[in-house]
Amino acid sequence: MPEPPTGERAQFEAAEEKAVREAYAAQGAADCPRCGVRMRERAIGGGSFGLGYARKREWLLCPSCHRSVLFDVKRGTRN
Ligand SMILES: [Zn+2]
Repeated sequence: MPEPPTGERAQFEAAEEKAVREAYAAQGAADCPRCGVRMRERAIGGGSFGLGYARKREWLLCPSCHRSVLFDVKRGTRN
């Protein structure tokens, strides 16, 4: 997926992105550090579940400023 050039799309700073990741890891939810509103989650499917190689990705999107954080969710255990 090509991304638009930097500057056209608002981005978090590294420290803000880290805070979002940590909040999400700890609470299962995160608020936008800039707006203070709850960020929306979207799961991004890898499409490889049938192969037993399920790498889950989450995308947190702020509905207010539209900044987003994309990260991998590592799941070491399964039932
Ligand atoms: Zn925001």
